[in-house]
Amino acid sequence: MGSMPICPVCGAETNDFFMDENNSIVGCTDCIRLIDAWEYTREEEFSARIDYEYEQYKDRLLGF
Ligand SMILES: [Zn+2]
Repeated sequence: MGSMPICPVCGAETNDFFMDENNSIVGCTDCIRLIDAWEYTREEEFSARIDYEYEQYKDRLLGF
């Protein structure tokens, strides 16, 4: 048995690499995590709306 492959991104020993469409290693199971895209998108939209509403509130407060 040889030694474990080492991830070029984070340096962890790993059995699996993730590659992009150019066959470049982008990480391993240690440094890449899978998240729910629907959840992520909702959060982005939510915080963008909060920012917008805060701007509106500030504008009203300052009388613009
Ligand atoms: Zn890694």
